[in-house]
Amino acid sequence: MSEKIVNDIIVIGGGAAGMMAALQAAWAGAGVLLLEKNEKLGKKIYITGKGRCNVTNVADGEDFFAQVLRNPKFLLPAMGQFDHEDVTSLLDMLGTPTKVERGGRVFPVSDKASDVTKALARGMKDAGVQVELNTGVQAVVKEENGFAVKLAQGGTLRAKCVIVATGGVSYPSTGSTGDGYRFAKENGHAVTALRGSLVGLTMEEKWPQLLQGLSLKNVRISAKVGKKKIYDELGEMLFTHFGVSGPLIIELSSHMPEDFSSVAVTLDMKPGMTPEQVNARLTREFTENARKQLGSVLTSLMPARMGPVFAQLCGLTTDAPINQITREQRMAIAQNLKALPLSITGTRPIEEAIVTRGGVDVKGVVPGTMMSRHAEGLFFAGEVLDVDAHTGGFNLQIAFSTGALAGRSAAAYAMER
Ligand SMILES: Cc1cc2nc3c(=O)[nH]c(=O)nc-3n(C[C@H](O)[C@H](O)[C@H](O)COP(=O)(O)OP(=O)(O)OC[C@H]3O[C@@H](n4cnc5c(N)ncnc54)[C@H](O)[C@@H]3O)c2cc1C
Repeated sequence: MSEKIVNDIIVIGGGAAGMMAALQAAWAGAGVLLLEKNEKLGKKIYITGKGRCNVTNVADGEDFFAQVLRNPKFLLPAMGQFDHEDVTSLLDMLGTPTKVERGGRVFPVSDKASDVTKALARGMKDAGVQVELNTGVQAVVKEENGFAVKLAQGGTLRAKCVIVATGGVSYPSTGSTGDGYRFAKENGHAVTALRGSLVGLTMEEKWPQLLQGLSLKNVRISAKVGKKKIYDELGEMLFTHFGVSGPLIIELSSHMPEDFSSVAVTLDMKPGMTPEQVNARLTREFTENARKQLGSVLTSLMPARMGPVFAQLCGLTTDAPINQITREQRMAIAQNLKALPLSITGTRPIEEAIVTRGGVDVKGVVPGTMMSRHAEGLFFAGEVLDVDAHTGGFNLQIAFSTGALAGRSAAAYAMER
């Protein structure tokens, strides 16, 4: 593409936030050009919700904001003008109806993530958005009357406004390689430290490797820093070759402070029982099975595969005769059933995280418009911002809400000029 003047808006990035921004800006009457470096739009959307795309969540108001981990207040205006009902009615209008599932999670009725991208692409086409694929942006330079957008393949495009919707740095194969952070910094913005969130956790001990692939249901994971509880939830977890993962652990990862060594994480395999009840049950089972070996009692308390590893963690073996187990050893078993320590050392690489924690500092962005406080006419939307949430459709909702607001505000800004 050679030198070209685009009058109104250039959107950088054709993910959830960029497509929504382009669509809303075009609907508001602006001339919009969307640049996407991949060969197709919405590459990340295709892998969301295990290919089904959990587009949003019906949680409203406080319930929604309780799921946002970083800078929920910043999102108030964006959510106020475009919430989950706006997402679902827009998708419905564009030919992709949705359904609500467990936990308020919303999916396309077709169970196909590709239908979400197709709907947004169709909407953009009908609204007159010009889309250029295979077009990476290298730099965004503020000029007197707008911006020069320098392309990776050479050439410069110009626009009154630019919306940066380049995503984070997780799953870079989908195109989110962190370019937007550079564009932000070059235009005077601070970018907070980047870390992976919603990601598996690595462990010091090697024993989880022996249990690789084993999933524990109805367990509790708790985490404390000193006496302060930073996480305490019931659900499912998974042992892996690197440590632990699964829904509970992925969620825990988003609550971990920078210094992992300060956090004590424990696994409660009997969350429905008090420590006294666990102790009483063990005492009863040991009495009833006095002539048997420890393994036979452990199989009634946990998946068979876990017995030998668990016995070892208690300083025993599964063939230990029950009538030779001391009171102290029984107490250690009871203690480990209720609070088995998991010494977490870190997260898996940020590239494997579901979302990026950190990003363009929201202090530099006006929450009511998504416009930069440092470079007038520059807007941000989606994961590139320092906002992230739990799983459940909240991160896509953030991308859609901030995208819609950035698109509408940029259109208003461009059309005034
Ligand atoms: C495996 C996985 C599953 C997930 N499942 C869900 C889910 O079910 N529900 C949910 O709410 N969230 C989910 N998420 C999170 C959610 O997908 C993201 O938060 C959301 O897609 C972010 O949207 P975005 O538009 O901001 O960024 P992205 O979707 O990353 O889009 C950014 C786009 O910008 C393009 N781009 C980047 N740099 C440039 C450049 N220099 N020039 C041109 N184009 C550029 C990229 O190619 C990309 O297409 C999941 C994430 C992952 C990794």
